[in-house]
Amino acid sequence: MRKPIMAGNWKMNKTAAEGTALVREMQKDLLAVPAVDKVFCPSFLAVPDVARAVAGTELAVGAQDLYWEASGAYTGEVAPAMVREFCDYVIIGHSERREYFGETNETVNRKIVAALAAGLVPIVCVGETRALREAGETQAWVRGQVVAALQGLTGEQVAGLVIAYEPIWAIGTGLAATPADAEEVCGGVVRATVRELYGDAVAEAIRIQYGGSVNAGNAFEIMSQPNVDGGLVGGASLKAADFIKIVQDAARAKGL
Ligand code: PEP
Repeated sequence: MRKPIMAGNWKMNKTAAEGTALVREMQKDLLAVPAVDKVFCPSFLAVPDVARAVAGTELAVGAQDLYWEASGAYTGEVAPAMVREFCDYVIIGHSERREYFGETNETVNRKIVAALAAGLVPIVCVGETRALREAGETQAWVRGQVVAALQGLTGEQVAGLVIAYEPIWAIGTGLAATPADAEEVCGGVVRATVRELYGDAVAEAIRIQYGGSVNAGNAFEIMSQPNVDGGLVGGASLKAADFIKIVQDAARAKGL
């Protein structure tokens, strides 16, 4: 069975002090939830303090981005080894980075390759716009993003990845995908594409999250879907009680 993975994407919220306080507030309850990976993804400047706050526990830290070069004259960027010093995970290709910061399928692939080389677990985001969904293009679009993201990777590397299916129309809107729609894309598109490219063993190993307006009220049903192995949670991960309930519900949904 795949180990569920619940990650909080804090986006550009929480200072280092606020982030540390939030983690301290949630720590005990989250650690009581068995057999689920729990990951906090703070802003870069909060990462070291949050990492120190969870050191020695099962709670993990992820960055929200990285750059693919190892070092050099890239003002403002953060290298994979710098991320790895504090983090086990890194979000790559979030739709906000694709939309506002010019990320493409090609840059996403370069970042995945660099992250893997540094020993990080990439959480790779894919998902369609509302216009694409309404045009019936969801399947082709998401499949194309997955194929491009995985370019050049070995089966072993792909088996260790996390892919987050995040329909853009559901992010931050309060309009989550229905559990059936989440399952259809996570299983019928993302996992199916991995199966087509890498075979059954890799497809069964890779973990696929759903993200987009996951909250304390809908997490159980979404996480109950067999091809949804966890969630990437934005807004609700900033509220201690909500994120704790979401993680507890994910464990319950998986019978843990
Ligand atoms: C996200 O940004 O990854 C996300 C899913 O946000 P929200 O949960 O706020 O929709």
